[in-house]
Amino acid sequence: MTALGAEHDGERLDGLAAEVQRRFGRFVREWVNPGADARDRTGEPLPRALLAEAGRLGLPGFSLPPEIGGQGRDRFEWGIVLEEVSRISRDAGLSPVLDVSAGVAEVLVRTGRAELIERYAVPMAAGACVCPPAAYESREPFEYRTTVREVAGGWRLDGSKPFVGGAVFADAFLVYAREEESGDILSFVVERGDDGVCVDRLPTTGLRSMGFGSVAMDRVRLPGERLVTGGDAVSAFNEYLGNRRLMTACSVVGHMRALFEECVLGLDGRQRGGRSVLELPNVQRTVGEMFTAVHTSRAIVHRALATTYGRRDRFFDPASTVAKEFAAEQAIKVGLAVMNLQGGEGYMRRHPWERYMRDALGLIGGQGAQELLLIQLGQHAALELRQGQVRMEKAQRTIAELTDGWWAFTVFASALEGGLLDQLRTPATAGEAAGRLDAPEPLVGEMLEVLAATGLVRSQGGRFAISDGLEAIMAGGPPRAGCLLDGGPGAPGEVLTGTLARQLDGLDDRLHRPDAHLLVAGTGSAEIAAELRRWLPAARVVATDPGGEVDDAGRFDLAWLHPAAERPCLDAVLRSLRVGGWAVQPASSVPGTDLRASVSRLRSVRLTGRAPLPDELARAMEEAGFGSIRIVPDPLDGTRHLVAGRRTR
Ligand SMILES: Cc1cc2nc3c(=O)[nH]c(=O)nc-3n(C[C@H](O)[C@H](O)[C@H](O)COP(=O)(O)OP(=O)(O)OC[C@H]3O[C@@H](n4cnc5c(N)ncnc54)[C@H](O)[C@@H]3O)c2cc1C
Repeated sequence: MTALGAEHDGERLDGLAAEVQRRFGRFVREWVNPGADARDRTGEPLPRALLAEAGRLGLPGFSLPPEIGGQGRDRFEWGIVLEEVSRISRDAGLSPVLDVSAGVAEVLVRTGRAELIERYAVPMAAGACVCPPAAYESREPFEYRTTVREVAGGWRLDGSKPFVGGAVFADAFLVYAREEESGDILSFVVERGDDGVCVDRLPTTGLRSMGFGSVAMDRVRLPGERLVTGGDAVSAFNEYLGNRRLMTACSVVGHMRALFEECVLGLDGRQRGGRSVLELPNVQRTVGEMFTAVHTSRAIVHRALATTYGRRDRFFDPASTVAKEFAAEQAIKVGLAVMNLQGGEGYMRRHPWERYMRDALGLIGGQGAQELLLIQLGQHAALELRQGQVRMEKAQRTIAELTDGWWAFTVFASALEGGLLDQLRTPATAGEAAGRLDAPEPLVGEMLEVLAATGLVRSQGGRFAISDGLEAIMAGGPPRAGCLLDGGPGAPGEVLTGTLARQLDGLDDRLHRPDAHLLVAGTGSAEIAAELRRWLPAARVVATDPGGEVDDAGRFDLAWLHPAAERPCLDAVLRSLRVGGWAVQPASSVPGTDLRASVSRLRSVRLTGRAPLPDELARAMEEAGFGSIRIVPDPLDGTRHLVAGRRTR
């Protein structure tokens, strides 16, 4: 399987572009481009012979399943093919006609019904049948006036569809209609030759070779097998629309790339003010702006294509919607910039610029009006955030409950420390996760079941992934204050000589005296001591093991304590300090009820067997006889604390 991230695979993109050149380049140059200007002028649609030739070369069936004569290539590849075909095609109607056909053929294949597949989908894959969707009625979505009712031997359909791409040369239409009795939306194949079907041409601003037309249907009788989707035609259509949006964006990027190149080359040689216009800074700036528009659109579209390898929402696909909305805006912006740069030439028909602009305007309303797409994206984003918050709260509650259930806590803590939770940032089966961790699969499987039962891990179709709440926390990576706790290198020396030295009276001076003595007490003390020596090479640093005796009374200027240190260790450390010396103890547990705090306490218990809060450590120091107690937020992390106390007498 190709992983997400395919959009960064330059070699693959280059390979697909080369494949398009090799397989379809000649067809586009010899069949499509020569008549493109004339078709735009006269409104003649793409000739059927041209579509048949495309079929012979495997273009319409590129992404369709082999069972119907397609090549079974995936959606990512199809998107890149459309981009590359559009880049070399001078006819912006070609890609939409090809993709509409592929999309409707998919809808038909999904029915699994031989009568629909053989009669329509198979010839569609071969470029021998055209069957666009006829849905839109210039009303609220799905509030159709086109109605259907069951009659003896089939159905009767009445209504009209005012705006259908490819209508002029279509053999059939995938018509969406409201069932009179139930109000349900159903879809049917209506053939152009069916009695009562009438197609009229629809002149449009651009995309004229797409053969737009309106389709009127008056008492059309359809046999039962023409019903395509009985119950849930709306969601089938939404899925189709999501794909169309994405593929539209792919074609837009291809045309934009071509326009950009052609415009810049077209400016080469143009002189104004005694210089080439390409040397003028304002022209260079505009070219830079166009370049940025092309690149960002391409990146967003490729990213959206890569999401087709993952799970997609059937009803609303934000990635495709963003891609279409953004690419369309940029396409219009680039078109206007070209008109601006080309001056009078920009308005002349003999250049491609004005046609590009007319074609691009179709993007404002086509595949969902731009403004509505933004509204939908806004609604979607707000909903996602709100739902994320709810999930986060649930995860917090679950963690709070976990602290009472030792078995679940142990599993969670092991998964956290063993790296299993990190692995689940990318959904994985138990086998995959076990493989990545080099751990026994049955054990990992059992842990995953427990974690899924707590809600901390989501399980879907045999794959596991961490819940959003946990993901938000783990995405930040291990907090650096973990070093303080774990005794790892990096943090104590930096914190001590930085923030702490400034905040704890006299400490800076003490640390840099020629006879400075530092004590590191508890687990991991050797590593911390080594690290402190790097920061304070002149100081004497002594490390003691946990439980080790500290009997050097009045000798140390600073004692760095393990987070779990408690009395009688604190008493001994106090005695070991010089008067005025400081003891510092990191508190790895964060106060509060949020998820970060809960996880910090779990982590702390797991590592040290205790989870004292900063206040508790401060109290313990005070009871042991330390003075000038301070709780200093850890400057490296901000959510954890260092508790410091001084020997004052
Ligand atoms: C080039 C092109 C090709 C097309 N091809 C086909 C085809 O082959 N088959 C087919 O069936 N249809 C086709 N269509 C029609 C297309 O599906 C619709 O034009 C598109 O879905 C937008 O719907 P609409 O025209 O009703 O615009 P609307 O959805 O009405 O949007 C127009 C404007 O109205 C406002 N608006 C509308 N609703 C709301 C709301 N709820 N809240 C706030 N503001 C709102 C917004 O400002 C919006 O920008 C095509 C259209 C174009 C432009």
